[in-house]
Amino acid sequence: MAKAAPSERLTRIPGGGGRAVRLARGQRLKLINTHGSQVVDTWALSSADHSEYLSMEQTRRMLFKLWPQQGDRLYSNRRTPMLAMERDTSPGVHDTLFACCDEWVYANYGCPPGHANCRDNFLRAVRDLGIDPPLVPNPLNLWMSIPVHDNIGLQIGHPVTRPGDYVVLRALMGVVLVFSACPMDVTPINGPDCQPRDVHFSLSARRV
Ligand SMILES: [Zn+2]
Repeated sequence: MAKAAPSERLTRIPGGGGRAVRLARGQRLKLINTHGSQVVDTWALSSADHSEYLSMEQTRRMLFKLWPQQGDRLYSNRRTPMLAMERDTSPGVHDTLFACCDEWVYANYGCPPGHANCRDNFLRAVRDLGIDPPLVPNPLNLWMSIPVHDNIGLQIGHPVTRPGDYVVLRALMGVVLVFSACPMDVTPINGPDCQPRDVHFSLSARRV
């Protein structure tokens, strides 16, 4: 279980499940990799206009990096800073290259229909808030390890995170943040035992 300050109220995201939460500008969210082995697909939509979303393509271009690090800003599809990655206590290995898992990737693996997936988790979570998104953007895959060697060298690695490592994201505009504790249990993206596990988050006060 994650260590929490006495005043820190934690919300659980079950392993394989998703959750959306609204953040006001300036508000912070601390996302904890409780067991250290869980990949969390992460999206953001502008509260004011749901067609503006956190874009991995634009973020890579703005940062000239394959994935963001502590201190970096994360950009929208209109190149507006949406989030700041204020803190990252993990070794800092994340992924922006892979699309979220979906029903079709599990079909490719021969799984029966109905396997939980990050795409469905995203859609369910935002619809629970009354949002009908125009598309499912490519997510920031927190703690997902895709070692890059060359153009034919992409691999699926294990998270190198430790239990209790966390990332703090600060909203630079009003956003809807969406998380999916990736349900992948075919590849070892969530660790060698292929077991999705719970993660937790806490929110700062609205005005900081
Ligand atoms: Zn997934």
